[in-house]
Amino acid sequence: MNVAFVSAEVAPYSKAGGLADVAGSLPQALVPYVTAMQVITPLYGQIDRPKFGIIPTGIEGSITFDQLAIPYTIHHQSDASSRVETWFVECDQYFGRPGIYTAADGQGFADNNLRYFFFQLVVLDLLKKNHLKVNILHCNDHHTGLLPGLLKTVGLQIKSIFTIHNFLYHGHFSAAESTLLPKPLLSQLSKTQWGNYSALLEGIDHADAVNTVSPGYAHDLLRGDNLDEPSHKHILAAQSKFTGIVNGIDTKYWNPEIDPYTPFTFSINDLSGKLKNKQELQQRNGLDVLADMPLFGSISRLVENKGFPLIIDLLDDYVEQGAQFIFLGSGDQDIANQLREASLRHPGKIAFKDGFNEPLAHLIEAGSDLFLMPSRFEPCGLNQLYSLRYGTIPIVHQTGGLGDTVQNWEMGQGTGFVFEPYESGMLRAAMDRALDTFKLKGEWSGLIHRAMSKDFSWDQSARQYFRIYKS
Ligand code: ADP
Repeated sequence: MNVAFVSAEVAPYSKAGGLADVAGSLPQALVPYVTAMQVITPLYGQIDRPKFGIIPTGIEGSITFDQLAIPYTIHHQSDASSRVETWFVECDQYFGRPGIYTAADGQGFADNNLRYFFFQLVVLDLLKKNHLKVNILHCNDHHTGLLPGLLKTVGLQIKSIFTIHNFLYHGHFSAAESTLLPKPLLSQLSKTQWGNYSALLEGIDHADAVNTVSPGYAHDLLRGDNLDEPSHKHILAAQSKFTGIVNGIDTKYWNPEIDPYTPFTFSINDLSGKLKNKQELQQRNGLDVLADMPLFGSISRLVENKGFPLIIDLLDDYVEQGAQFIFLGSGDQDIANQLREASLRHPGKIAFKDGFNEPLAHLIEAGSDLFLMPSRFEPCGLNQLYSLRYGTIPIVHQTGGLGDTVQNWEMGQGTGFVFEPYESGMLRAAMDRALDTFKLKGEWSGLIHRAMSKDFSWDQSARQYFRIYKS
């Protein structure tokens, strides 16, 4: 069982969101089950090659696009002790620039479709030339959605699994762009209702197995929640090969007992470090240093569906009631401006940090009391899992993976505060319940203990992926 896991982002090398976390940790968890596990990803300009020991393999080739041969070279991570071999596709024209999907101004690169066509064609080239010895190709999200169909066009005896990390992003491409793809693939593509193509739907149609990252989201997709009718039909057509497997987390990297990014470590048996981290978080971010003031944290891409319209609406009221907020995120400029304005209106009470900041993300998890994650929909969500592990109580909308992983608080039970439907009033009600409970010190510490006792390691889920590989 030789597996190659193909992903546009892989932590710790490159990360824009949860896909990177999964691509960095799931292959590791699958090592005990398979003969060999390899990961393939682009070598983006910002990846620190010396730091990670990334060196050329000597393998090179080229892909012909529009009669132009575009060269690539393959690098790998030279750490012989690593249980997973990671291969990097280098091509200066497509991946040499800084940024994974977007430029510094937050705009997506105009040639993103071509970049991931190229990446997938390189993977196919490596398979055809037998540089990669693989019998299972594990594809992830739309950047790799054409590979299952491409495999069939070249008659390779390789089975494919396609994992949907987020159905919102299709990787739509035009008929004109499609002409860059190999001819045998073109006859297989199905047009969407907009007359273009969807790399995501292609992956769903052609993979031998399809899954998404939680049973709850699988259920939501099968029911057609937040889906247009034609997309829903593709999911229903794939139903017999479609499952939901909840994401795990890297429990070594997200571990409050040894986290190098937090000034104070802590554990379920000694939470004193958590309170010190709260003070540190407040101090470093211009918040009033008050131990008893409930502090809400948020770490997120700034997009509408993460629930920001609901959150922004209630900030003034909750600050007046004596709560503090810290937001870390990058993305939509309107959302960023609204959070910035709120922080200027309430100095010492609301902090907003614009940008991607891994150390601060860890400190927010470690130092906050509560974590806000009221996403309109959420395939799995990782931050609520990190929050539970760090004793930071999540407030979530009952949707997808959030509903699967957080149990609503009732006296003596539950791990967080869950609300539905997705409405401002319902989020407020959940926050009120949380703030009332926060005052009951015994009840609150029970909640923290239950949250921190949950097991979100990959063990169970890796076994489920292995079952799919085996089938
Ligand atoms: P999504 O994949 O939809 O963005 P997830 O909750 O599954 O959401 O995963 C998001 C991942 O990205 C988490 O590891 C989170 O900590 C991280 N992240 C998101 N925004 C930032 C940021 N601004 N700084 C640091 N980490 C971030």
